[in-house]
Amino acid sequence: AKKLGRNNFQFYTPAMNEESLERVRIESALRNALERNEFVLHYQPQVDLQTGRIVGMEALIRWKHPELGMVPPSRFIGIAEDTGLIVAIGAWVMRTACAQNKAWQDAGLGKLRVAVNLSARQFSAADLVPGIEAVLNDTGLDPSCLELELTESLFMSDVTPAVELLHRMKALGINLSIDDFGTGYSSFSYLSRFPIDVLKIDRSFVNDITHDANDAAIVASIIALAHNLRLSVIAEGVETAEQLDYLRHQGCDEMQGYYFSKPLPANEFEQLLRQRRGL
Ligand code: C2E
Ligand code: CA
Ligand code: CA
Ligand code: CA
Repeated sequence: AKKLGRNNFQFYTPAMNEESLERVRIESALRNALERNEFVLHYQPQVDLQTGRIVGMEALIRWKHPELGMVPPSRFIGIAEDTGLIVAIGAWVMRTACAQNKAWQDAGLGKLRVAVNLSARQFSAADLVPGIEAVLNDTGLDPSCLELELTESLFMSDVTPAVELLHRMKALGINLSIDDFGTGYSSFSYLSRFPIDVLKIDRSFVNDITHDANDAAIVASIIALAHNLRLSVIAEGVETAEQLDYLRHQGCDEMQGYYFSKPLPANEFEQLLRQRRGL
């Protein structure tokens, strides 16, 4: 740490100092990232466990800054949420993902569904629904080919406006899923009241299903719960053949994870699609 003047006490540790410095650097760089075109989307396949076909993909943001290098979402999404920048970034993600999906469909690659992460800040923005509608109109993407991933934290505060908003989103014809299911404030009451289509089982449960009987039981229960509520269920973070076998045996509908593919740049995702479809 730098020596401060003799009457100055250092009340922070060097580690904290570095951390807050980095935060400030990321925050100011983030303000220019959109206009400088520093974001790209990667796409991770979602695979039907019955047919083995790629039926969709999750769009995941990547940020390449000229000096900071590749900054992972874990280091900037939180800052983008705190500063409100996530609203503009999220709108860019939705537009780019929908346009890309439409382009792949127009190229004859099939009717895929693209999943986009929605942060709490976007959820409470007044123009969310008209914004989604505008993206669908402008890109020409069939609404059934868009899925928005929500987290349970969205429902923690005031439930009534959330239900109303979700119904307005559903009225557009899009799909809604609950991301990281089981890790947050899970309540059975919202599952029956909210117009949800898909549960995404969090990867922390999937991780240990072949070693931990409790996690295996939780995963089996989530799958049964989803099906009893007539929801579809997708497992995240599938990394091994053993995990896949268990999930298939339990009747899980879809999977996403490194075992099948990491998130890929658009051109590599397209290559993979062409290969798998024999195009
Ligand atoms: P998430 O929504 O839960 O996304 C899944 C994360 O798990 C991704 O990390 C993905 O790369 C990773 N993953 C996928 N399969 C596996 C696997 O088999 N094993 C392991 N260990 N990891 C796997 P990523 O891309 O670093 O994103 C991290 C988080 O950042 C996301 O978690 C999401 O919460 C957030 N995020 C990413 N893109 C966006 C975005 O466009 N908007 C918003 N609001 N958040 C985003
Ligand atoms: Ca997600
Ligand atoms: Ca997740
Ligand atoms: Ca997450």
